[in-house]
Amino acid sequence: MNSNTGLGKLRNARKYVIMNKKAFRAIRAGARTIGGKKMDDKIARLKEILDDSENVVFFGGAGVSTESGVPDFRSKDGLYNQHDVRFERYRPEYLLSHSCLVDEPEVFFEFYRQKMDTRAIEPNDAHRVLAEMEKRGRLRAVVTQNIDGLHQKAGSRVVYEIHGSTLRNYCMRCGRVYDSDAIFRSTERVPHCACGGVIRCDVTLYEEALPEEAVAGAIGAIRRADTLIIGGTSLTVYPAASFIGYFHGKHWVVINKEHLDLPLDPESDLEINRPIGEVFRAMAQAENKRS
Ligand SMILES: [Zn+2]
Repeated sequence: MNSNTGLGKLRNARKYVIMNKKAFRAIRAGARTIGGKKMDDKIARLKEILDDSENVVFFGGAGVSTESGVPDFRSKDGLYNQHDVRFERYRPEYLLSHSCLVDEPEVFFEFYRQKMDTRAIEPNDAHRVLAEMEKRGRLRAVVTQNIDGLHQKAGSRVVYEIHGSTLRNYCMRCGRVYDSDAIFRSTERVPHCACGGVIRCDVTLYEEALPEEAVAGAIGAIRRADTLIIGGTSLTVYPAASFIGYFHGKHWVVINKEHLDLPLDPESDLEINRPIGEVFRAMAQAENKRS
């Protein structure tokens, strides 16, 4: 995979984010904080912002999926040791790395099968409201760091999966495409294609470059947006987090349980520190009440 151009751009984006933050800090100085407003006021403000926008893009992370019960892969809870794989000897990041896939495929697939099988998991209110917004022409795109396919399952069409998806899999030798059953239902410890090659997930592993097409789509969408909703992400995973540096629109909206240290402008932007499902549920209810 040729990643030179993509990575170069991402590095620049990261620099941009830092400069952007400084510029915004200056604006923020002396401005009132937006933490104290009541939830209803914030929902009303969110509606105002969306009504004032023509090109809304959603940028989401793990917090969007946790409300559906998708486990945090970094936690080793619920792992059971079998086939002599002793997970406690490994860091979670190693277990999802390219090195592990290549050097210790038995360990990789054991962990992957136990942690990454989200086939039975259903979308939650956040996924559903976003899909509904897209249907009504109120949302242009979802950019997600999640790999569970739940946005599409809820009905979203324009979804840029910048870390890939567990629902797509392919043979590392001949490229033949497989669905996720090929890994999760295989009786082989390391799943193999008819050609003899190993079947792997189309997920960006540690040490691997992000998928170029999804990255280009995501950056393009963010660049054209007039409102960017950042939801369920603490913006700590790079380079994904640096993508928000491409946003030059009118309104930043942050919906995250924890406060994010982004230099928002209280006049035009909004931060809501609540679980994202709850916020979207309240927004949908407010919308129904009005219409
Ligand atoms: Zn093959």
